[in-house]
Order: sequence, then structure tokens, then C-alpha cells
Amino acid sequence: MSPSAAYSLSLDQARQLLVQCLMSQSIFSADQLNRIWAELSLRVSPSSLSGEPAPSLTAILNIANRKLTPLGFRVVNFPSHFDPTTSYYVFANLEDDEFSKKTSLSTMEILYFELVIRRVVESPGCVADRRDLLNVLNDPLPHASTQDATTQGEGSMDGGASAPLPQRLNMTKLEAQNLLNQFIWEEWLSEFSQEAIDGLPSMDVMPTPGMVTLGPRAFVDLKPYLARMYNTPDEPEQQLLFECAVCRGLVGFGLSCRSINCPGRVHLSCAARRPECPACAAPWDTRRPPESPLDA
Ligand SMILES: [Zn+2]
Ligand SMILES: [Zn+2]
Repeated sequence: MSPSAAYSLSLDQARQLLVQCLMSQSIFSADQLNRIWAELSLRVSPSSLSGEPAPSLTAILNIANRKLTPLGFRVVNFPSHFDPTTSYYVFANLEDDEFSKKTSLSTMEILYFELVIRRVVESPGCVADRRDLLNVLNDPLPHASTQDATTQGEGSMDGGASAPLPQRLNMTKLEAQNLLNQFIWEEWLSEFSQEAIDGLPSMDVMPTPGMVTLGPRAFVDLKPYLARMYNTPDEPEQQLLFECAVCRGLVGFGLSCRSINCPGRVHLSCAARRPECPACAAPWDTRRPPESPLDA
């Protein structure tokens, strides 16, 4: 790198490049984004900093968010709900609630995505086996479920002569498998590794390696959709996601309060910061609490 290239950016330009990285990929682990900012800040000319050290990642993102928020966007730092060593930065669209504008997926792929999310949140503990997520190919599509929810057999793809839309997805298991990998890669879903499972406290539903739950990008970017569909305290028997008693975010995979009639639920990362239920002061029922609490 030549000396002139070393100091080629103003602080504003470096911030804009950082935001462009976030916009293009939508999500980074905190490690990744810290490395990117470390590289960029090396290139900021000293005159642009007026003798100050380059701002930290947190400081530059605060500046970025002051400019992004009026436009309906925000960079959100989000802890992993089960891995205390990981957090994420998500470039979130605060206003738009439609999947279609957040992905380059086709209509069929988005329908599969909705079926996958539904199957994950309906699974015990919000933890689903990948085979189950392939079996949703046999489920009626969301738009078809009210028309004919009883037709569960194979071979009814035609949807009947009068139905303009198919009853089920026209997708092979291999295509679905590839999409699942993409959803995990893009952090819409999180896959449990053995290492992550080894760090979990004792829970009602213990995942096994390869099982998945909702990922950080879903919780940040699809929060209004998930809340509308699945956080339904007015209809408790239909409620599948809950508001965390500590951070007020949505909880799928997490800990429940064991007091009778207390609805308290929390993320594992929040339980590590707050050992008692804020609603009733009972301790969370874990024998092996998570270590190293994370600052959100
Ligand atoms: Zn929480
Ligand atoms: Zn409680």
C-alpha cells in the first residue's frame, strides 16, 4: 500500500463505506464488522480526525444511525440468544414489513420461508429438526390453509380446477435443502453447533447438533411480522413467541419462569444478566447458568 493510499479517506467517507458494507450484506458478526472498521479507520486521514484517535465501531455506528434513522433504517446490535460469545450487527429496515423487499427470493421461495418460520416457532422450545423443515413441503400454503387444511396427502399439487394458486409448494427436497442452507448462511435461521449446545444450561428442550431456531436477522428485520403472527397474548393458546421479560425483544428459544401463573420468558443471554424473573423474582430454573453475560 502506497503512503498516499494509506490516508485516502475522510471520516465521512469511511463511515459511508462501512454503511455500504452493512447494506450489501445486511448482517455481520461483531468480529467481522470490527475487523472491517479497523481496516477502514486505518485509511482515514489524520487531518479528518483533527488529532483525535479514530472513533470506535460503536461511536461511528451511533453517528451513522443518527443519519439513517430519519430514513427508516438503523444498524442494530443484537446478541446471540444462545451463544454468549457472539453478537451481530444487522442493517434493519424499520418500516418495511415485507419479506419480498428484504430478500432476492422468488415468490415460491418466500412461501417456503414462511412455512419454515411457522414450523420452527410451532416446534417445542422453538427448535426444529431440519427434516421437519423439509417436510413442510407437504403443508398447505399459507393462502391455501383456510380453503382446505384437511388435504394432507401426497399428489394434490394441482390444487383443484377452481384454485388458481397451488395448494402446496412446487419445490424439490434438494431445492428446499439448498434454501435452508441459504437461510442459515444469511442468519435468518441459526443452526446449533455442538459447541453452542455445550454452553447451554439444562433446558426443557435441548437441541441436538444441526437443529435450528430463529436467527438474529429474523428477530431484527422481521420483528413486526413475527410479533403480529406469533406474539398473541390476547389468544394465549395460539401464542408461540413471547416478549422477553428483561429486554422486551421477542423470545422463541429461551427460559420460562417456573412460578405457577407467571408468564415470564427470557432469552438465555438476558437470563445471564438478570438471574431472577423481573415479574415475580423467582430464579430461572437452570442448573448450569450461561457464563460471560453479554452487553446488548
Ligand atoms: Zn431478552
Ligand atoms: Zn416469574
